[in-house]
Amino acid sequence: MTQKVAIVTGASRGIGAVIAERLAGEGLAVVINYASSAAEAEALVASVQAKGGKAIAVKADVASAGDVRALFDTTEQQLGKVDVLVNNAGILKMVALAETDDELYERTFAINTRGTFNTLREAASRMNDGGRIINFSSSTVGMNLPNYSVYIASKAAVESLTQVFAKELRGRGITVNAVAPGPVATDLFFNGKSEEQIQNLAKMPPLERLGQPDDIAGVVAFLTGPDSGWINGQILRANGGLV
Ligand code: NAP
Repeated sequence: MTQKVAIVTGASRGIGAVIAERLAGEGLAVVINYASSAAEAEALVASVQAKGGKAIAVKADVASAGDVRALFDTTEQQLGKVDVLVNNAGILKMVALAETDDELYERTFAINTRGTFNTLREAASRMNDGGRIINFSSSTVGMNLPNYSVYIASKAAVESLTQVFAKELRGRGITVNAVAPGPVATDLFFNGKSEEQIQNLAKMPPLERLGQPDDIAGVVAFLTGPDSGWINGQILRANGGLV
């Protein structure tokens, strides 16, 4: 059997890094995409290879259509056509809408929304039939928290892209779903929050803890694996019951 190929965007750190490790452990050849954390991405490649897995690190800013085309080119040249695409790359900066400057608005939509659009558009013509696409939303879309307006709007758009694209891929056997995590213990979550805010958010779900990257990697592994073939066009909230 030929080895399946997965691209995980934003896999140098945080949730994406754990997803990449998990998929490599399940036998996929994994592209660890990053924008700036080259050392972390290369260290993860070495760690996957040390465990007998196959991985390469590829730098690409998902906000750039040209970079994303090159990401698919490199993947095809080095590993083969893509079977699994995990659109994990994302940024969050908490600011009240009234204080959000143009640059933050543009950057948030460029990475979270256009970044997802760029890889989906490329995937449409370049993914193998029978593939799996997992986008990243956020449970904040269901919470409407103050200071998250632009982030939430960028992720609500990702949910819409997910639902429409699942239908546009009719006949290809490709499923398109989104995972919408609640708070997960990564830089993205911790940055800009006081200890008190962190504790308050950690206590909010009935399971009374922060999510860990492993919690989310398990959901992604399910959505890329054999038992989720009938799930398509769905937004799966993974948040310990928060919303
Ligand atoms: P993180 O720890 O900040 O890691 C973000 C990753 O994205 C890094 O590998 C980073 O790589 C990469 N990245 C950022 N900009 C990029 C770009 N333009 N092109 C390619 N890669 C880029 O974040 P995380 O918490 O793991 O978040 C992963 C996803 O989960 C995001 O979509 C986020 O919105 C979503 N999410 C997270 C939480 C949470 O509480 N953590 C909750 C809900 C949803 P470089 O270092 O190389 O830039």
